Amino acid sequence: MEKLWAPWRAEYTKSKKTKGCIFCLKPKSKGGKKDYIVTRGEYVFSMLNAYPYNNGHIMVAPYRHIQGLDGLKKEETSELMEMVNKSIYLLKTILKPSAFNIGINIGSIAGAGYAEHLHVHIVPRWQGDTNFMPIIAKTKVVPEALDELHKRLKDAQKK
Ligand SMILES: [Zn+2]
Repeated sequence: MEKLWAPWRAEYTKSKKTKGCIFCLKPKSKGGKKDYIVTRGEYVFSMLNAYPYNNGHIMVAPYRHIQGLDGLKKEETSELMEMVNKSIYLLKTILKPSAFNIGINIGSIAGAGYAEHLHVHIVPRWQGDTNFMPIIAKTKVVPEALDELHKRLKDAQKK
């Protein structure tokens, strides 16, 4: 777990320049290609992480800018869990991972990059991926790979 959640992201977290909260800004984009939104629900949405822990890393967040699970309304809580389930299903269909890590970092000390806006990480796992991730993480994320995965996730929902 230590390997999965931390080291290669430190650089990104430190160099983060984006002003404002991505979980507030991204859903407001008008379906542009680069927003990487996968599913828009009534209270919550899911999007691909542009700085993934692993291939297929999805984040699910409420539209409302709130920090903790205890700030969620009942309907938001239930749609959040449904969206997590749906994301797992989509990733299973497309990427066929052997396992998942589902996690929430509440507060910046817990490792949250955007500590003030609650989000759930869904990270697909494959046998042996902790061995190669620290190595490939030193390379840049290939935008084409994200675009392609984004398209496949959107297409899978049309069926
Ligand atoms: Zn926000």
